Amino acid sequence: MAKQQTFADKMSKVAKTAKKCPVCDAPVIYVKTIQPVENGSGNYRFRTQMTGVCKCNGQEFKI
Ligand SMILES: [Zn+2]
Repeated sequence: MAKQQTFADKMSKVAKTAKKCPVCDAPVIYVKTIQPVENGSGNYRFRTQMTGVCKCNGQEFKI
């Protein structure tokens, strides 16, 4: 039987491996965000990018 990972296990793993923010001292979690990019002729494309989120900007990303 597979060992079930609890949410707390996952979070402690994230806290151990994540970089710490030098400003708020909280672990930085990387989330995928989608950014609209104009290609010069008025059309928009969407680019996914990984953004580091900590307590400084967590409100913005609703974490
Ligand atoms: Zn921070």
